[in-house]
Amino acid sequence: MDHFLYRNGHLHAEGVALSDIAANVGTPFYCYSAATLTRHYQLFKEALAPMDNLVCFAIKSLSNVAVLKLLGDLGAGMDVVSMGEYLRAKAAGVPGERIVFSGVGKTREEMRVALEGGIRQFNVESEPEMRALSEVAVSLGVKAPIAVRVNPDVDAKTHEKIATGKSENKFGIPIARAREVYAEAARLPGLEVVGIDVHIGSQLVDLEPFEQAFQKVADLTLALRADGHTIRRLDLGGGLGIPYTRSNEAPPLPLDYGAMVKRTLGHLGCEIEIEPGRLISGNSGVLVSSVIYVKNGEGRDFLILDAAMNDLVRPSMYGAHHDIVAVAEPAPGAPTVPFDVVGPVCETGDTFAKARDLPLLAEGDLVAFRSAGAYGAVMANEYNTRPLVPEVLVKDDHFAVIRERPSYDEILKRDKLPEWL
Ligand SMILES: *Cc1c(COP(=O)(O)O)cnc(C)c1O
Repeated sequence: MDHFLYRNGHLHAEGVALSDIAANVGTPFYCYSAATLTRHYQLFKEALAPMDNLVCFAIKSLSNVAVLKLLGDLGAGMDVVSMGEYLRAKAAGVPGERIVFSGVGKTREEMRVALEGGIRQFNVESEPEMRALSEVAVSLGVKAPIAVRVNPDVDAKTHEKIATGKSENKFGIPIARAREVYAEAARLPGLEVVGIDVHIGSQLVDLEPFEQAFQKVADLTLALRADGHTIRRLDLGGGLGIPYTRSNEAPPLPLDYGAMVKRTLGHLGCEIEIEPGRLISGNSGVLVSSVIYVKNGEGRDFLILDAAMNDLVRPSMYGAHHDIVAVAEPAPGAPTVPFDVVGPVCETGDTFAKARDLPLLAEGDLVAFRSAGAYGAVMANEYNTRPLVPEVLVKDDHFAVIRERPSYDEILKRDKLPEWL
């Protein structure tokens, strides 16, 4: 469920017409709904109750500090994968005790900054990383709380670029070697073992791979406890999928996910941590764009938008589908025509959709890409020297620009001419 609905013939974000924002900010822009973000976070809280739990928002899916503050103020923790994301969480006022540091290649500098600034736990992914973290912690005179990310070797049955839990993926340590790795962790002077971490992929539309993985984590918890380790926290990662089309997909609901977590892990008495990104942010955002031209090609019509592959990367990178709707509500029964929806970038890959049935649109009309809140703005870039797309947050009947579109001056100023040129 989201809060992007037609009212009086215009698509609204909560109480604000997207066309009003477009008139104010220009297009393209991302727009997020505070009520939708809040609702999705709360769904996870309800699903995990009454287990002791922390819902850590995966910042990489949507990292604007205003969004982080909104979720942080509700009590959310944050899952970060870089120093930049750590600093964003801190800038949003999230205390270190609610920040989890994930990622396969943390540098010593990142470890130091997080240890000094406060951290709930590091999810470590290799033995060399574990040794480096111990050294950094010892040099600061502290102990680094850790969970080891185990790779359970299950098939997440999702897009190959976002599956992370098979043995051939770069993530985590093979679960078969976990006891050995925990034994070394316990011997390292700078580490304190607090739990186990697992994350098997993103956009999972079936609970079964999760259940297989969590069953293996349950077995491992008992084995590690028998070896004398304190396992009091289980971090289950993120990855629950969302419906990208209104019609045919029905991924599991957070409530079903929570029930499965209770069934597989509830008896262990551990604190449960999860790291959802997409399910909180995905359907909380849209990308709004204007039609520049309608071009009649050979046997097909092109809708040329002012948004492009650099603003929303997912279609060109993953072949992902986004529903595209007209911001002005089409009359009931109005005719549709198939359009190839493209951006202005000089790449054939700059295609959002092929032969997509849309109402008869004309120059200047607005369209909205749905489900664009996750892995949208965060993956945007300035290819073709197109200014980074701005972000807007709506709450009730007001909106605010939470990241401005840079001016061309600002963009050009970043390039420096060497003296010898
Ligand atoms: C990407 C990622 C997440 C979030 O995944 P979603 O599919 O957005 O829920 C959580 N944890 C880790 C370690 C990740 O890499």
